[in-house]
Amino acid sequence: MNKNGKLYAKKSLGQNFLVNPRIAERIAQNSVTEGCCGALEIGAGRGILTIALASCFEKVVAVEIDGDLIPELQANLALKNVKNVTVVQGDILKLDLHKLLETEFKGMNVVCVGNLPYYITSPIVTKLLESRLAVRSIVVMVQKEVAVRLCAPFKTPNISAISFCIRYHSVPQLLFLVSNGNFRPIPKVDSAVVKFRILETPAVRISNPALMFSLIKTGFSQRRKTLVNSLGKQLGLNKANLEMILAEFGIQAQARAEELSLADFAAITAACYQSGLTLQH
Ligand code: SAM
Repeated sequence: MNKNGKLYAKKSLGQNFLVNPRIAERIAQNSVTEGCCGALEIGAGRGILTIALASCFEKVVAVEIDGDLIPELQANLALKNVKNVTVVQGDILKLDLHKLLETEFKGMNVVCVGNLPYYITSPIVTKLLESRLAVRSIVVMVQKEVAVRLCAPFKTPNISAISFCIRYHSVPQLLFLVSNGNFRPIPKVDSAVVKFRILETPAVRISNPALMFSLIKTGFSQRRKTLVNSLGKQLGLNKANLEMILAEFGIQAQARAEELSLADFAAITAACYQSGLTLQH
C-alpha cells in the first residue's frame, strides 16, 4: 500500500491481484493431485492463493520476484496463522527449480501452481515443461485467450507451437473461466484456469525432440505458408524431396503446420533425421 492507503501494483511485473478468495480456494482445490503434498507457487503477490494452497498442502514454497511485496506477503500469512509456507524472493525464470525442489521438498511429490504474470506466461510454461521438472501437475491462471491456445487440440485453428510442447509433456485441461472483475487493478481481459497433468514419459517416442520442436517452431512462425515452403528452406531441401517425405506419411503437399498432429511431426522429424537432414541456421 502507498501512503494514501491505496494498493499499488507494478504493471511491468504483471501485477493484477486476485481479490476473490473463493476463486483462490477453487484453484487450490483443483491443484490437489493424488499423492502430492507439496506445492510450488509462482508469483505469490500478496498471498491470496498462497493462503488457500497452505490449507490444501503440507508444504508450500511461494516464489515472488518483487521485494517490495514480501513484507506484506509475510504479514498476510502471519495474520492467518499460516506456518507451512516458505517464501523465496526470486525470478522464476532464473531460479534453479530442480535444486529448489530437491532442497525444499525432499521426498515429496509436488504440484506447481500460479496466477501467472501475463507478460511471461509462455516462457514460464515452457520452462516448467521443457526442464522436465519433477512435478505431477501444473495449474495456472492465464488470460482466457491464451488458455484456449494452450489447450487447443491438434488440427484446430487455435493450435500453436506451444500447444505441441504442452501435449508432448502433458495432458491439458481448461478448468474454468474467471471474469476480470475478480482482479485489482481490473485487467482488460478475462482469465481462465488450466491444468496440465504431466505424463511420465513424453506423448511420442522420438530420439531428437530438439529437431522436432525446431521444425514445429519453423512451421508455425510462418503458419500461412505450406510446410513444403517453410520447412524446405530451413532444411535446405528441394520441394520435391520434402513432398516425398510428407507423402510417405500421407500428408498433402499443400498442408500447413496447423493441419498436423504431434505424431505427424514426430514421423517427419524421424524421416528427416534418417536422411541426415538437420536445420540450416
Ligand atoms: N498470486 C497473486 C494473486 O493471485 O493475487 C499475484 C498474481 S499476479 C498476476 C503475478 C505475480 O507474479 C506478481 O506478484 C508479480 O510480482 C509476480 N512475478 C512477476 N514476474 C515474476 C517472475 N519472473 N518470477 C516470480 N514472480 C513474478
